[in-house]
Amino acid sequence: MTGTQRPDVAVVGAGVIGLTTAIELAERGLVVQVRTRSAPSQTTSAVASAMVGPSVAPAGEPAAAWERASIETFTTLASVPGTGVALRRGRLAARASGPPLPGFEPCALGDLPEGFGSGFWATLPLVDMPVYLDYLVRRLEAADGRIEFGDLHHLTELAEVAPLLVNCAGLGARELVPDPTVRAVRGQQVIVDNPGLEEFFVEAPFSPSWAAYWPYPDHVVLGGTRTDGDETLDPDPDLAEQILQRCIAVEPRLRQATVRAHQVGLRPARPAPRLEAEQISGARCVHNYGHGGGGVTLSWGCAREAASLLTG
Ligand SMILES: Cc1cc2nc3c(=O)[nH]c(=O)nc-3n(C[C@H](O)[C@H](O)[C@H](O)COP(=O)(O)OP(=O)(O)OC[C@H]3O[C@@H](n4cnc5c(N)ncnc54)[C@H](O)[C@@H]3O)c2cc1C
Repeated sequence: MTGTQRPDVAVVGAGVIGLTTAIELAERGLVVQVRTRSAPSQTTSAVASAMVGPSVAPAGEPAAAWERASIETFTTLASVPGTGVALRRGRLAARASGPPLPGFEPCALGDLPEGFGSGFWATLPLVDMPVYLDYLVRRLEAADGRIEFGDLHHLTELAEVAPLLVNCAGLGARELVPDPTVRAVRGQQVIVDNPGLEEFFVEAPFSPSWAAYWPYPDHVVLGGTRTDGDETLDPDPDLAEQILQRCIAVEPRLRQATVRAHQVGLRPARPAPRLEAEQISGARCVHNYGHGGGGVTLSWGCAREAASLLTG
């Protein structure tokens, strides 16, 4: 895309949803411009853990189909160098005992940490988000897509830029649309050096706080917390200590790990993701926002559906 060329499509947002949708459209041959308030590294997407499936997506169709499509694509990306995606084996476990989940290898009782009564093994894509977002930007640029920085106050501003729009503003959709059903669900994490962990661990179900860790080559992301409606971006030191202690109780090797950073993200929650088209000032707009705690998991499935809705 040259500097003066009018884009076919303007996409709001450079988080995982906006970039993936922009790539899907640009690789179908459309001229795409992304408009964003913040750099990809400053989005909620940059602080996602990020595990792809199987328990973070909302239940039922169409979310299950979006998740399946994404798992397939991330599994392919795991064998492409430089994407930040890797397939890792790990346990998903509950404190209560329960029946085995069809299709998953149950944990033997000896596989479970103290205090856990059931669980299963799964091999899933884990996504190192800062690395992955850089990869998405490179892939978009390779398809001639362009990223422009700027704050939007209303989607009608973009209707003057391109005849097709996609709204991937995440939490920003609350004011931009406006959509009062969008709300923030705060998550806090601790990042530590990796003391040699290969496998992930996630406690289910997700209550306001749970034990979870996801290993990457040189660091481990520890979680998790979920506070509805809290938009405090400063890390809470007490919460950080609780996260550390919960994870150490499951994996004692984490006790020796040096803390690198504390991070907070606001999940863009909504009763269900919004994926639908409407006319805005003569432009066709597809909304693709409100993915809550599952935006990475749903990203490729939603991007493909958004692109199909946009281009008919
Ligand atoms: C702690 C934590 C852990 C998570 N773990 C996982 C996980 O393991 N697996 C998983 O699938 N998901 C996970 N998530 C959820 C995931 O991070 C989100 O669902 C996803 O990042 C949402 O992406 P998005 O692109 O919609 O929003 P964002 O990443 O927030 O991007 C929104 C974009 O819109 C732009 N924007 C907004 N308003 C405007 C405006 N008015 N003008 C211009 N630009 C605007 C912003 O600048 C930004 O570029 C986690 C989230 C958190 C917080």
